[in-house]
Amino acid sequence: MLHMSPLRLPGDLVVCERNWLSSNNLLCLGDAPAIIDTGHVKHAADTVDLVRQHLGAQPLATIAHTHLHSDHCGGTGALQAAYPQAQTWVPEPSLPHVLAWDEDQLTFGDTVQRCDRFAAQHALVPGQSVRLGNYDWQVHAAPGHDALAVLLFEPTHGVLVSGDAMWEHGVGIIFPYIEGSGGFEPFLDTLDVIERLAPRIVVPGHGAAFGRAGGAFDAAMARARTRIEHFIAHPHQHAAYAAKVLVKYQLLDVEQMPLADFHTWLDSAPTLHLLHQQHSPELGWAEWLDALLTPLFDKGVLRRTDTHVLDGV
Ligand SMILES: [Zn+2]
Repeated sequence: MLHMSPLRLPGDLVVCERNWLSSNNLLCLGDAPAIIDTGHVKHAADTVDLVRQHLGAQPLATIAHTHLHSDHCGGTGALQAAYPQAQTWVPEPSLPHVLAWDEDQLTFGDTVQRCDRFAAQHALVPGQSVRLGNYDWQVHAAPGHDALAVLLFEPTHGVLVSGDAMWEHGVGIIFPYIEGSGGFEPFLDTLDVIERLAPRIVVPGHGAAFGRAGGAFDAAMARARTRIEHFIAHPHQHAAYAAKVLVKYQLLDVEQMPLADFHTWLDSAPTLHLLHQQHSPELGWAEWLDALLTPLFDKGVLRRTDTHVLDGV
């Protein structure tokens, strides 16, 4: 049997493992405490509570983001209200969009997701570093899941905050491919960057932190590469995967919707229309939705009554 040594993060780095609607958060304790990623707006009050539990009376000094999808920055507005002195960092190209609160550029428009408005003062620039808690964190570009995303890497302890660039199991949606602005390859390039950084511990955007013990990191890397190579060979399967994830994500947020509202939401999501074209342009919209959603209902991932669609297991 393999010897499994526990993950040893320094005591001043605290992983708050959340779920699939809210990203994980990493608290970087110290004289000027920081948080990396803030979860979904639905759980914003929980996020503020979590921070308060760990900081006590100490104010939060810094908020940083791996990328600005609604599951990673939804708690930022509430944290800024609770800690008005906190300074907020976002990936450099996103800074003007946050300042103008341009929901289409910030992707909430195309996916019809929700996120509370927040402010930002500082840009995370690849090649530079940012002080978070007691450590200087390197900023590395991480295109793939999101063209503007960054990795945050703390070299003394080998801790990588990967956002949605790398999970232990599975890969995130490749949004640049859907939008036609990029291919699948940048995701592989970012995995190469992660491999070169040789982290001891990866704190992913979703799922448990993982390390090297038992070959976990190498296995995760191999799984991610295999999955992306599969998408390169079969891009329509990425479209089906992405569409299912986006619908499930919406139901995780709202929990239930009247059928008419559900269809209005589906019809109004530009990203889903792009995915329809990428998956099965020969099918009509309603026919495609039916083919896409029926397996989700059959498996209980979603449920429906005569009047409502509900989140499932
Ligand atoms: Zn995420």
